[in-house]
Amino acid sequence: MTPVTVFRGKRLALFGLGGSGLATARALKAGGAEVAAWDDNQASRDKASAEGIPVVDLASADWAGFVAFILSPGVPLTHPQPHWTVEKARAAGVEIIGDVELFFRERAKIAPAAPVVCITGTNGKSTTTALIAHVLRQAGRDVQMGGNIGTAVLALEPPAQNRVHVIECSSYQIDLAPSLAPTVGIQMNLTPDHLDRHGTFENYGAIKERLVAQSDIAVIGVDDEPSKQMARRRAASGRPLVKISGEQPLDEGVFAGITANAGKLDTRIVQVRDGKPKVVANLAGIGSLRGSHNAQNAAAAFAACFALGLSAEEIAAGFKTYPGLAHRMEEIGRVGRVVFINDSKATNADSTEKALTSFRDIFWILGGKAKEGGIESLTRYFPNIAKAYLIGAASDLFAGTFDQDGRVAYERSGTLDVAVAAATRDAQAQPGEGEIAVLLSPACASFDQFPNFEVRGDVFRALVKALPGLVPFGAD
Ligand code: ADP
Repeated sequence: MTPVTVFRGKRLALFGLGGSGLATARALKAGGAEVAAWDDNQASRDKASAEGIPVVDLASADWAGFVAFILSPGVPLTHPQPHWTVEKARAAGVEIIGDVELFFRERAKIAPAAPVVCITGTNGKSTTTALIAHVLRQAGRDVQMGGNIGTAVLALEPPAQNRVHVIECSSYQIDLAPSLAPTVGIQMNLTPDHLDRHGTFENYGAIKERLVAQSDIAVIGVDDEPSKQMARRRAASGRPLVKISGEQPLDEGVFAGITANAGKLDTRIVQVRDGKPKVVANLAGIGSLRGSHNAQNAAAAFAACFALGLSAEEIAAGFKTYPGLAHRMEEIGRVGRVVFINDSKATNADSTEKALTSFRDIFWILGGKAKEGGIESLTRYFPNIAKAYLIGAASDLFAGTFDQDGRVAYERSGTLDVAVAAATRDAQAQPGEGEIAVLLSPACASFDQFPNFEVRGDVFRALVKALPGLVPFGAD
């Protein structure tokens, strides 16, 4: 835990006692602050109370007595409308901040030079965060990873000179962290998302830009126009900038060069310094970093680790052993030339697109609770599909798309167990050579058949692991 001592002896309000809220209340208490915590949920209040965190009904509290208000990132600050606690805080002139802000204030007090990497962007945050943490650990660094991924930031060990914090930041967290100032700040990419919470695309982008604008070294993806403009503004400021790209050569920075090699796509990470390009890593054969989206993630990770003093060799070696994140194109294992991939996190067509571009001969398990637009946007990848297996509520809708397109053979499996058995049987009977994928990439929410995408992916993994002859990933 990182005890927050910057409010020692002071009284604060806190709303939201979920995972990160509870961790924040504990950290404040450990640092000697007096916290008045509240949550709409009785069970959450009881849990906090049971560990001695004072629970106070903030609706009737005297807000003039608080020096700050800590808001959970899941609670609306501005849109669609400010939460009632936000109105109360504003009326009383109490500053509104979040856990990432507390972390940075504490760092400024106890270890201002402690290295911190912060990662944001619309997509690829978790992958890039986990990849950086892995590479740094493999190179022998003391690493703490968390924030929007896994462990809440204040539940991590405190910042220190010889310890690197790698923190994923959502736009909500950045919005509540005015003094966020990492050693290395990464902005991956920007596409419209969460606009219900940020009002406009411009506002969403401006929040993300703050993370890189306030960092010592900014790493910015230049594969979309708004991020490119952020890079331009950073360059104009004269402060250190490393541009990265997953798809185009750069005159300076780190980019991924993708070439076709004997029918397979080879991705090389190229670093350009003082105008001189050098191939610094090769992603060929690294199953956890397949696809052009992961090329962007690897380029960002390279830039960050290099900025922290790792050698190109250390970084390339770290990439090779990256295990990947569960449910995101997670390689579970192989039977002969059939590779089994769990991409349960792909809950919409955009995410599934990444998986469909990463394999050539796909036995595709999809379906669930359909999102708007269904899989219409994916028809151009249908030539990569050997056969599709439909599960869940979207079966009729998707069968309609396949019938219309006429190129995809499919069957209605209904449930995941039936689909896995059928896809395995067909994939193993497929003639030819080269890699074949049995891919769960549902392009749907899971709620019609599972509590969440994690459970859906766990069920898939268990079914695959029980297959005769399966060689689990990493066993060879
Ligand atoms: P986030 O944490 O930003 O949600 P993840 O690393 O968890 O991102 O990846 C989630 C999904 O987003 C992946 O399964 C993949 O489909 C897609 N994705 C990952 N990296 C990128 C990227 N750099 N650009 C675009 N899409 C990506």
